[in-house]
Amino acid sequence: MSFSTLVSDLTSRGSDRADVRSQYSRARSVASTAATSVSIAGDISSQLHSGYSHPLSRAWQAERQLTKSMLIYPLFISDQPDECTAIPSLPNQSRIGLNRLVPFLEPLVAKGLSSVMLFGVPLAPNAKDALGTAADDPDGPVIQAIRILRRRFRDLYICADVCLCEYTSHGHCGILRDDGSLNNEMSVDRISDVAVAYADAGAHCVAPSDMNDGRIRAIKLKLTAAGINHKVLLMSYAAKFSGCLYGPFRDAAGSCPSFGDRRCYQLPASGRGLARRAIRRDIAEGADIIMVKPAGQYLDIISDAKEIGSDLPIAAYQVSGEFAMIHAAAKAGVFDLKAMVFESTDSILRAGANIIITYFVPELLTWLES
Ligand SMILES: [Zn+2]
Repeated sequence: MSFSTLVSDLTSRGSDRADVRSQYSRARSVASTAATSVSIAGDISSQLHSGYSHPLSRAWQAERQLTKSMLIYPLFISDQPDECTAIPSLPNQSRIGLNRLVPFLEPLVAKGLSSVMLFGVPLAPNAKDALGTAADDPDGPVIQAIRILRRRFRDLYICADVCLCEYTSHGHCGILRDDGSLNNEMSVDRISDVAVAYADAGAHCVAPSDMNDGRIRAIKLKLTAAGINHKVLLMSYAAKFSGCLYGPFRDAAGSCPSFGDRRCYQLPASGRGLARRAIRRDIAEGADIIMVKPAGQYLDIISDAKEIGSDLPIAAYQVSGEFAMIHAAAKAGVFDLKAMVFESTDSILRAGANIIITYFVPELLTWLES
């Protein structure tokens, strides 16, 4: 009933037709009561728009908001000192030689880059062998890059990926038995030596991505024996799933297995329970941070990691295939690149991560400025 109809209705029914002001007052009161009754009758809990009608109140809805300090930028460090080669399957990303590293990073550090993750790429002939000897070569790309970055960028936090697949002639993430299967014990021994070498060179964080059983404990024990455990963070690729999202990375790092695949040690896409067990195990073995990889297709696992490791930071790696897909779809006009990048990082944070490793870091540093 409209206000004017209500007034005329009350007026026609009223006993004192002369007292129009009183009728108005009664009408206002009835109208106001009626409006309240309507919204209550319509279930007041359904009224949500008021909570996010302003850009700031929309931002307040987030449990975590993306900041620059949450970002880690993956870098491919070549053993060819002057190399700066674009990686065709990873738009805007390059393999970088040691001589190019500082000029490449200077503008990013100026924009607020706080952390990098280093991957070594040995390209020299005969650089690879069955034991991945080049992984901890003191003159190799990762150890040299750590030293250069520590010297040049005092505040840059340096994470070093620890694996053998870039350095082994067979491209697998450990040492193999004669039958081609992973020798877990020898692999863990080797991987933990490599981790200690990176830590010794000055890496703030070592991040084993090999998925051999027991490597977190072994690395922790060797860091302790070396007297550097107190200053080196151990980030475990605890829930790393096998799948088809790593193709561009393998182009960049030259780490494609020469035979077979990594399904025996990386997790099956459907293995949520396995991931939960691996997360629990790596926390028990001393991991300081748990990582889930890939990110966008595994938001439930990120959420599980946050629940199981509620007192640990949780990292998520938005891998090369996710990055390339977002770029390709934006190029095809499916969506706006920036909008989708923020939607993807918001999803990862919402699931429970508070650290994101992504190739979008240069763009995000610019976008977070405004
Ligand atoms: Zn590997």
